[in-house]
Amino acid sequence: MKAVYVKEPKSLDVAELPMPSAGRGEVLVRVHAAGICGSDVHIYHGTNPLAEYPRVIGHEFAGEVAALGLELPPEKRGLSVGDHVAVDPVTSCGTCYPCSVGRPNVCSRLKVFGVHQDGGMAEYVAVPAANAHVVPKEWPWEKAAMIEPFSIAANVLSRTECTASDRVLVMGAGPIGLTVLMGAVLIGARVAVADVLDSRLETAGELGAELGVNSGRQNLEEEMLKWTGEGVPLIVDAVCIPALFPSLLRMASPAGRIAHLGFSERPAEIVPLEITKKELSIIGSRLNRNMFPRVIEWFGKGLDPEKLISHKFPFTEARKALDLIEEKPLETCKVLLTF
Ligand code: MN
Repeated sequence: MKAVYVKEPKSLDVAELPMPSAGRGEVLVRVHAAGICGSDVHIYHGTNPLAEYPRVIGHEFAGEVAALGLELPPEKRGLSVGDHVAVDPVTSCGTCYPCSVGRPNVCSRLKVFGVHQDGGMAEYVAVPAANAHVVPKEWPWEKAAMIEPFSIAANVLSRTECTASDRVLVMGAGPIGLTVLMGAVLIGARVAVADVLDSRLETAGELGAELGVNSGRQNLEEEMLKWTGEGVPLIVDAVCIPALFPSLLRMASPAGRIAHLGFSERPAEIVPLEITKKELSIIGSRLNRNMFPRVIEWFGKGLDPEKLISHKFPFTEARKALDLIEEKPLETCKVLLTF
């Protein structure tokens, strides 16, 4: 079978690899669509500190069950060959402290498909049956492959307990910022989006943002005070420039929450007094903790993830697709590979 294979940093090929088989508790998935994430581009370039090589990349994928392994967990015994599934890429040990408190996405022995173990940009991949979530057969494969990116939004909105009475500022209208926007709008919150590109703000408006602020031209802190009168109850940072962090603390309302999704290793200078005075919650969110069922529900309620898909390529043109994201970040949103 063929797979998108990063042998070592900067070397990406479509390679012929041995056909995997479903082990105990696993299903074999015939992959039909896989999304490309910024983190895949980083693994390709050798700038993802968590990746191990060689690696079949891809953690946003969907396909059909091609074979069932032995001893499937009780809740997955209903799975059949031919079922359409989206695969949650997070695998965890189940026994460490974070697992014991329902946070398997930060398991001490976390393994993510496409990062720590071979992933979904392959014609076939064997995955734990527990990670395979059945989706309606009438959904296009592309839609099913969008569940993982939306699980990032579901996780952060769950961690911050976003409700219909919230006002949310989403920093950044890239693919992740837009998934957070769409999730928060579905929940019923009022959402403002900040970005430096008018074209992205226009997209955010079409997807339900009440207010778009061009933070390159406008004073975002003033705009947020005007919008809310007392500061923003929930800020989700999908830009993740450490230098902006002090401003987030200033914009947050008393009792506000600030969620952070970035992977920067640079320090941010913050004023601790703001945290105490306003009793702020500063919340990290990584991957997702069992959010696939919730996202499947969102899609069933009319959230249309295909609005974020800008390009599709056959997987044999994976390198071209990854290069496009790199070279034309402003023209690409979500880029998918089909298999
Ligand atoms: Mn991703």
